Amino acid sequence: MGRSDMTVQPLRVLLLDDNPDDRSAVVRTLRREFFNLHVEQITDAESFERSLETGNFDVVITEHQLSWTDGLSALRTIKAAWPSRPVVMFTDAGSEEIAVAAMKAGMDDYLPKSPRNLEHLPAVIRVTTEQARHGQFPPNRNLRLLQSENQQSRTLSLLVEVSRIVATSLDVDTLLQDVAESIHRHFEYPAVRLFTLDDEGQTLVLRGYSGISADSPKSAAPEVRRQPIDQSTIACANHIGKSHVASETITDHPRPAGLVPAQAEVCIPILDAGSLIGVIELESNCEADFDERTLSLLETVADTVSIGLRNARLYEESQRRLQELTLLSRIPVGFGAGLNFDALISGTLKELHELVNADRTYFVTIDPETLTWERDHAQVAPGVESRVGLAGTFADMPVELKRLSTGKPFAVFDTTFDPRVDKTRDMYLSQGTQSTLLVPVQFGKRLYGALGCDYCRDKHVWRPDEIRLLEAVARQLELALDNLHLFEEVRLRADELAAALTRLEELDRLKDKFIQNVSHELRSPLAIVHGYVEMLQAGELGELQPEQRKPVAIIARRVRMLSDLVQDITLILEAEVSPPTSEAVRLDELAQVAVEDFQLAAEQAELALCVEIAPELPPVAGSPDYMRRVLDNLLGNAIKFTSAGGTITVRVWRQEEQVLLEVSDTGVGIPPHQLERVFERFYQVDRSIWQRYGGMGLGLALVKETVETYGGHVTVESQVGEGSTFTVMLPIITNSDFENAEL
Ligand code: ADP
Repeated sequence: MGRSDMTVQPLRVLLLDDNPDDRSAVVRTLRREFFNLHVEQITDAESFERSLETGNFDVVITEHQLSWTDGLSALRTIKAAWPSRPVVMFTDAGSEEIAVAAMKAGMDDYLPKSPRNLEHLPAVIRVTTEQARHGQFPPNRNLRLLQSENQQSRTLSLLVEVSRIVATSLDVDTLLQDVAESIHRHFEYPAVRLFTLDDEGQTLVLRGYSGISADSPKSAAPEVRRQPIDQSTIACANHIGKSHVASETITDHPRPAGLVPAQAEVCIPILDAGSLIGVIELESNCEADFDERTLSLLETVADTVSIGLRNARLYEESQRRLQELTLLSRIPVGFGAGLNFDALISGTLKELHELVNADRTYFVTIDPETLTWERDHAQVAPGVESRVGLAGTFADMPVELKRLSTGKPFAVFDTTFDPRVDKTRDMYLSQGTQSTLLVPVQFGKRLYGALGCDYCRDKHVWRPDEIRLLEAVARQLELALDNLHLFEEVRLRADELAAALTRLEELDRLKDKFIQNVSHELRSPLAIVHGYVEMLQAGELGELQPEQRKPVAIIARRVRMLSDLVQDITLILEAEVSPPTSEAVRLDELAQVAVEDFQLAAEQAELALCVEIAPELPPVAGSPDYMRRVLDNLLGNAIKFTSAGGTITVRVWRQEEQVLLEVSDTGVGIPPHQLERVFERFYQVDRSIWQRYGGMGLGLALVKETVETYGGHVTVESQVGEGSTFTVMLPIITNSDFENAEL
């Protein structure tokens, strides 16, 4: 029908709509199509009644939602008065139910309000009026349109929901369960099951379920949970790679009592790169439910699920790799529990067991010397015996051990038939092992042990990645065992050294004791000799002959040296046993006395001995005996190590809260690298001086130890060939020190 025909014919439209914008949109659109158009806009009951009375219209367009009535009532009123006048409902308040009721009441067409449908409105008006003119009533074309639109939106929302599940779930079980529930919600099929194919590709495992019977993945009967792939319907899905509908009554699945058997079942394969990885299985009570459109929708769902499964698998794999790497990195450091064989092996087995999913993971220690082996650690699945303690000789496991010593793994799929385990079959049978894998752990070139995995519930095909993992773990164990051995050796050495040290300390203690005893025994005779020599020198025992004077002087000097030495030894060793008491000591006075004592010796050595003592110096904490020896040693050394013509200066002064004593000389000096060592016990820069001057290298040790006992310290500065300066610093004694010292 041409547009020109329509444009000349007058068209009278009754427009029932409360919304002025919508009314003018309708008028505008119709005016574009119908040249001779009369629109009567109805917004209240009176004008509606008037129009009905006159019947001055060809077609009615009505909104359903009206303030003064509703579209459905208006339709019924119109049809009661003017049954052949077409009525079209153009509404945004309608629903499928209203549309159906309106159709039943004789409505000629129905359009949900939308810009797109507004464009369709002129065509709908044209067709309905034309048909009314010719006494025909139009089929419910737009109702079907509405139904199909609804179906499309349902389709879309299912796909959106499945995509969302796939995008948000990385766990296969959650993913498949959520998808099953989503499909069930959309189609209300009696049962929706989602399976994945297991690693061996032989069995479909139920992972998601939604429906009226109770076979959720957890509670399902074993035959529902795990189905062999060659089962008829699923096999079809597998072979054809297309959905398969079985129209006969399905009896495969156990059904709760009283439930009608399903009339139709469909299997939609889930494919990844063309191979089957899972199946969506649906039951319905009506075969017509599985029309082509629905099947193609379900295939799209299956494709989306396939992407989800791939993502989840990639995620699982990356998690597993991470776990593997973590395990491998933790082995060489003994899981942070220190290096200990038992902790190392049980830590390794615990983590490995979780990773490999075997029923028994164990470690066998092999002793090549006694030619025996023993399973000393194991991790097992619930209900599986660990058989720790299982032991035997090499003769018990000839094939396995022989193979392991080549460094290669030994994998058995079926211990009941594998001829390689003929001799040990009984052992495997007795411990329920169906499949076993052994990987050698070598230490150097020798076989140290083996890492083993057993499957007891089923037979297991050992995958290359599993074997590789076990081998990698074995290599890391070798490293860790190597470390463990080194560590053991070091510990042994350390124990030996500690024992040697204790022995040395004991010897040292005995030596000190011995020296102390000897010094003690020497003191009295030396004092007597010293006294007599002095008397001899002073002529108290008669005037000495001129030729006797020199030997007696030598005897006197040597005896003095000897008694000084004995005194140093006694003081230094006594201080070790019981620290000397503390009292107020006047360093200035002690220094003055010492200088006077050494005056004669200095003169004899042709040295100038100068003294500079600041007035009114406060006392320091110390012991007079020890302080005297400090001064004697410093002055004695200065005289000893300065050649004739040199100068020795003794200075005592206060600096802040300390009194400083300085003894400097213009002697031989001390090489820089030996400056610190001169304070060590028995240290002498040049051993040859011992022959000349005597001494044992104890003097400066006594100086340092004494000074430090009283909270001070000593330093030395020296230039070889120019002289040395020793400075002793001691803290001034305070009033509270006096009180504490109970003077
Ligand atoms: P010794 O009894 O051997 O003198 P000391 O402990 O008093 O032992 O001194 C250790 C060593 O330090 C001396 O053997 C000497 O080599 C060096 N020494 C000490 N005082 C001086 C000094 N004033 N000048 C040069 N060397 C010195």
